[in-house]
Formats: sequence, C-alpha cells, structure tokens
Amino acid sequence: MTRLFINGEWLPGSAGEFDVENPADRTVIARVANGDAADATAAVDAAATALPAWRALPPRQRSEMLRRTYELMVRDTDSLAELISAENGKSLSDARGEVTYAAEFFRWFAEEGVRTGGDYGASPAGGTRTVVSHKPVGVAALVTPWNFPAAMATRKIAPALAAGCTVVLKPASETPLTTFAITRLLTEAGVPAGVVNIVPTKDAGGIVTTWLEDPRVRKISFTGSTRIGQVLLKQAADRVVNSSMELGGNAPLIVTEDANIDAAVAGAMIAKFRGGGQACTAANRLYVHADVAEEFTAKFGSAVEKLVVGRSSDGADIGPLISAKAVGDVTALVASAVEAGATISHRGEVPDDKGFWFAPTVLSDVPADAEIVRQEIFGPVAPIVTWTTDSEVIALANESEMGLAAYVFAGELQRAMRLGEAIDAGMVGINRGLVSDPSAPFGGMKQSGLGREGARAGLEEFLETQYLSIDWPESP
Ligand code: NAP
Repeated sequence: MTRLFINGEWLPGSAGEFDVENPADRTVIARVANGDAADATAAVDAAATALPAWRALPPRQRSEMLRRTYELMVRDTDSLAELISAENGKSLSDARGEVTYAAEFFRWFAEEGVRTGGDYGASPAGGTRTVVSHKPVGVAALVTPWNFPAAMATRKIAPALAAGCTVVLKPASETPLTTFAITRLLTEAGVPAGVVNIVPTKDAGGIVTTWLEDPRVRKISFTGSTRIGQVLLKQAADRVVNSSMELGGNAPLIVTEDANIDAAVAGAMIAKFRGGGQACTAANRLYVHADVAEEFTAKFGSAVEKLVVGRSSDGADIGPLISAKAVGDVTALVASAVEAGATISHRGEVPDDKGFWFAPTVLSDVPADAEIVRQEIFGPVAPIVTWTTDSEVIALANESEMGLAAYVFAGELQRAMRLGEAIDAGMVGINRGLVSDPSAPFGGMKQSGLGREGARAGLEEFLETQYLSIDWPESP
C-alpha cells in the first residue's frame, strides 16, 4: 500500500501522487499518495474519534498489541530491511540493525506501558490528601525524518500508543514506504482503526501547520533539523502545544593519548560511518590527542579506504547519500575545509554511475574553527583536529550550539567519565561508538532538542500529570 492511511482505510491523496526514488540509482520505486490540508484534518478527525476508546482500554490490552507488533517486525526483518535500503539507500546490514532497534521500541513500551505509576501523599500542613496520576496527552502529531525511516517512527508511535494517545504521522517524503509497512503490522497486531493515521505529502509545512492549528491536537513530537524544529516550536507556541524535539547534532569524538587506538578506530568507524554518516548521532569532529594523531589517522584512514561503497544488493558497507543536494552540501564543506588548510589524507572509492555517491573521506590538519567542524556534515567525512590538554578539548567539544551525542575513548575510565561529564551533550559513548539504546533516554541539550525518547522518559513525553487534592479533615 502506498496511500494515505486514515481511520483504518488506505485512501488516495487529495493532491495526487509523488515519486519515491532509490538514491542508489534514482529509479522510481513507488508512487505515493500526496496528502493535503483536507487529508490532514480527516486524519485528526479519525484520531480524535478513536481517542476515548483507546485511552480507556486497559493498559495490558494496549501493551499486548505493541508486543505483537514487535514480534511481527522481527518476523519481517528481511523484507523491512530491504525496503529501508531501497528508499533510503543504507546498506542491508545497517538496515537490519535499524529494524532490530526499531522493533525494540514496541517491546520496550509494551513493558513500560503497563507500569502506570502515580503517587499518594499527605500535605505537610495537613488537611488534604494528594493523589497524583498520569493521563494521555491526547491526539499526537508525529513528524519523522528519512535517515532512520523505521526507528524514528517506532520511537514515537510505540510510547504514544502505550500512553493511550492516538496519532497522526507525517513520514519524510523521501522514505514513506517503511512507515506504511509498519502501519500494516500495527493493523495485523490488532490496533483499531483511527489510532494510527499516516499522511505522506510533498507539502510538509501545510500538513503540519494544519495539525498545529487544530485544537484537538495536543502534542507535537518532531525529529529532524534544528531549523525546522525552531519553526515548529514557534507555531506550537500559539496554542501552547506540548512539544518534544529531537533535532540536529554535531557530535565530538575524543581520543586521548592513553586510549586503546585499535578500539578507538573501531568505535570511530561505527560512530562516523553508520548510515553513511547520515545520523544525528554521527561523530562530526574527531579530536585526537597530538601524541597519537599520526597512529590513529593511519589506522583509521586505512579502515576508511577499505569501506565498500555501493548498492545494498551488492553487499556494500555504506550506500549513497539521500539526494543530489546532500552530495553538493558535503562537497562544499570538504572544499571549504581544504581551503582553510585541511588535507585529504584518505579517501575511498565510489561506483561510477548516477547514484548519489560520496567517497568516505578523512581530513587531517583541520583548523579547530573550520566550517566543517561547526556544521553538521551528514555525510561520510571525518575531520580530525588535534589537541594537547583536557581543558582545551573540553572547550572545543562544547564550542557548539548542538549537544546531542559525544564519544570519549580513553585508557583510564575515570578520565573518560570526567571528560564525558564535562561535555554538554545528552548522550556520551564511553569507549564505544554507539549510544542508541531503547532502554536509555535519547535526546539532546542546547539546540539539539527538548525532551527524551526511549526509556521511561519517552513514555512521559506523551503523558500529562494530574493531581486530585482531597479535603481531609484531621479530626473527623
Ligand atoms: P528536516 O528537513 O528537518 O525534515 C524532517 C521532517 O520534517 C521531514 O518529515 C520533513 O518533511 C519535515 N518538514 C520539512 N519542512 C517542514 C515544515 N516546514 N514543517 C513541518 N515539517 C517539515 O530534516 P532532515 O534533513 O530530513 O533530517 C536530518 C536532520 O534530522 C539532521 O539535522 C539530523 O541531525 C536530524 N535528526 C535528529 C535526530 C534526533 O533524534 N535528534 C534523529 C534523526 C535525525 P519532508 O521530508 O517532506 O521535507
């Protein structure tokens, strides 16, 4: 199905259709329904109508549908991974990893959703009892990016449904197909009509504005760029819509002089090149101690040159970038780094055809204030900056308005933890290049976002707190 999904039905889009391309060869792999403002409102109609029954269901019943969806995603791992690869371009191994990660949100929130905690207490002054409980926030608008088409959707849908919310979701226009596949599995798992509604569109601004202006929509959960997040926060302010924002990153990766260099290289390969560098958590600037910079660069560069870039069907390690614009942006950042004095020390190879290829590249001697370390690269380029004292590298790491992820590779655990604690980032990998974990709170500081996904915190983003203040005369 490549249509809108509203109130349990697959419908044509009021604004026709648009193409979805495989970025590895630019072939059109699907024509997808193009939703407009009327479709957006119809989706809210369905979500608002389904809300009372869904939030009244015993949490265990909602939980069992989520658990079943987890099992169905695991069953369909291969076909989902192929779909992700086809529309996003990432390698099959990256895509399989994404399916496993994405499915886990259904299992995790199936488990968290039944722990409906509250509180009960006596006020210090006496005379009242306080009962605290949590209620679903209501109809939630979810907006997801193209770089993790499965995980960014499930990281929102699963906690929203577990909390008792119903949802309207707009997938990225580059990668709507994976969302459709997950929607089919939710239906197969028994999720009733109207609880999940999907509106693909080429008019993201129009659809999301319609939702934010609709008084029935009480929540916006967005993952994407800081620029669009700022736009949505301003729009949400008009109706004081509850907002969760997972925005851009600019992760520093620090290697100290006493680090295990082979382990640091292995970690940096994951932190930098997963999804071809198109991850919000991607290591964006590598700060390597001057004493080990030569050894690290040689070993890392050699691993980078061995990366196979190509189509997932050919067993490549990394695929193409998402678009011609992305290739242009990354090319310009590399050119400006070279102009500022950086050297291209290592470079991989790419297929000679019309996919959106970019060769994995290592830049050494990068000035600490180069544009490429200040911007989110979102591509397979690793700029290496050297440093000599811990206070210097902490200052460099914090010299950014972004604060999503960071990585520290150090020989002594306490030093690694001190460095990690000194960095203003929501997530810090210590001697490892991966921080994503459904049971841990994912999210950023500063302009990288508001709120957290995953963990218990991810459920709380979709709950309102209410207390009942009960008159309690001390002597009846
Ligand atoms: P983007 O341009 O902000 O797009 C993200 C989503 O917003 C897409 O669904 C897009 O729709 C939609 N959108 C675009 N313009 C909009 C508007 N005016 N109003 C409402 N929605 C709008 O980001 P991207 O380039 O796809 O994704 C890369 C960015 O996402 C990076 O900065 C990355 O760091 C960030 N990201 C963050 C996290 C995190 O958890 N913190 C995770 C993944 C990615 P269309 O597809 O139709 O344009």
